[in-house]
Amino acid sequence: MKKSILGIGAVLVGLIAIAVFRANAVFEDVQLAPAKNLAQVELNEQQVVERMAGAIRFRTISHDDRSNFDADAFLAFHDYLRESFPLVHERADLTLINDFSLVFHIAGSDPSLKPVMLMGHMDVVPVDDVTLAEWTHDPFAGAVVDGEIWGRGTIDDKLSVMSFLEAIEALIRDGIEPKRSLYLSFGHDEEVGGQDGAKAVAEHFKEQGIEFEFVVDEGGVVLDDVIESVDRPVALIGVAEKGYLNLRLRVDAPGGHSSTPPPQSGLGVLSRAIVKLEENPFPAELTHVKNTFDAFASHASFAHRLAMGNTWLFGPVIRAVLVNDNATAASMRTTTAATMASGSSKSNILPTRAEAVVNFRILPGETAESVRERVVDIIDDEQVEVIMGTSINPSPVSPTDSMGYELLAQTIRGFDDDILVAPNLLSGGTDARYFHAVSPNVYRFVMVRATTDTLKIVHGIDERIAVKDYLTAIRFYYALIRQATG
Ligand SMILES: [Zn+2]
Repeated sequence: MKKSILGIGAVLVGLIAIAVFRANAVFEDVQLAPAKNLAQVELNEQQVVERMAGAIRFRTISHDDRSNFDADAFLAFHDYLRESFPLVHERADLTLINDFSLVFHIAGSDPSLKPVMLMGHMDVVPVDDVTLAEWTHDPFAGAVVDGEIWGRGTIDDKLSVMSFLEAIEALIRDGIEPKRSLYLSFGHDEEVGGQDGAKAVAEHFKEQGIEFEFVVDEGGVVLDDVIESVDRPVALIGVAEKGYLNLRLRVDAPGGHSSTPPPQSGLGVLSRAIVKLEENPFPAELTHVKNTFDAFASHASFAHRLAMGNTWLFGPVIRAVLVNDNATAASMRTTTAATMASGSSKSNILPTRAEAVVNFRILPGETAESVRERVVDIIDDEQVEVIMGTSINPSPVSPTDSMGYELLAQTIRGFDDDILVAPNLLSGGTDARYFHAVSPNVYRFVMVRATTDTLKIVHGIDERIAVKDYLTAIRFYYALIRQATG
């Protein structure tokens, strides 16, 4: 008895020794060296800011109900871009896709180099009437107050559209001719799925056999509070995004009067199915969280390194801790969210049909079909029909050793070498998902600084950007494009 306790003790001491050793040894600093001598751009700050404020004044809104689409707002915005960026429009070939999405092509002098694609979207989400009164400044007034540009789209995503165009207008003005071709794609329906915009644009390039060296779209930002044990800002570059699936659960039942009900109504059967799904979440896996962590691990606290450097030992504990945070949990598993339900239309009538919609965000590695199969298994009830709705499979995962990723990372760090760069899995969806068909290297990153808290203004109230941050974005893209196109 005593002997075996001693034996276990020795094994434990051994394990702890290995764990400590790994915490200290496993994580080297993998941050790339900051780019040196980045190209500097001269900007007329006042004009640049006024042009951005002007862009916010166009109500290029995407509505779930597409019949509310305001074509005139988009066409007027196109005109505005033409007036604001005359050099780009003179130099670039412009193609309209499905009348409203814009593709600019600035041909490079060396056709042997694969082109680069920068993406953004012109549409914005609506402002709820109920929240309108809560805005400090009208969301479509383009107010510039106290060093901030206010309004819907200042971050998501007129920031990308306007800062790319400002950078390229300046490059042309400065007489810089690219060796590598550059494309810009500005979608008009990203906020409602990108079917007519980015999807069609990607198909257009696929048909022409054009492949991109790399693609940059919105998604990640520079976050000041990515984890508490790292007191430096971290630029999260989205290398993949989760898939999307709606499953409709349907229960058909005899119905009848509620005064003589069966022990369980159709709604009861349906509810039991939903509860089973919630009680059996998809398994959590650490891969993506760990890939993000590993990139800045050498700058994290010993405790975090000890845990993450030894997932073979601490994996179950880490998973248990991390799934308690909804945002982190979303990076670790396919999520399950029951969002809609219906029964009968009257309080004293039993439903003949009860239905619910469950929305899943699918982790790379699974598919819409594999999710459906698991759901059917868990519900395990023939009364519940499981019907496929809208589905998009998760994206592939782009590499972190490509020219595109390294260029992004080095340019970000060239701007501020305090910033650490890390790959990241996006829980939401972007237009970029369609571009994996035309490039193995698709990255989601916007040069904007935020905290978890300030990010809530995206799609929320008081969306705005500091003038200083907007100018930094333009300077960043000027330098990035200079390097990317040679
Ligand atoms: Zn967006």
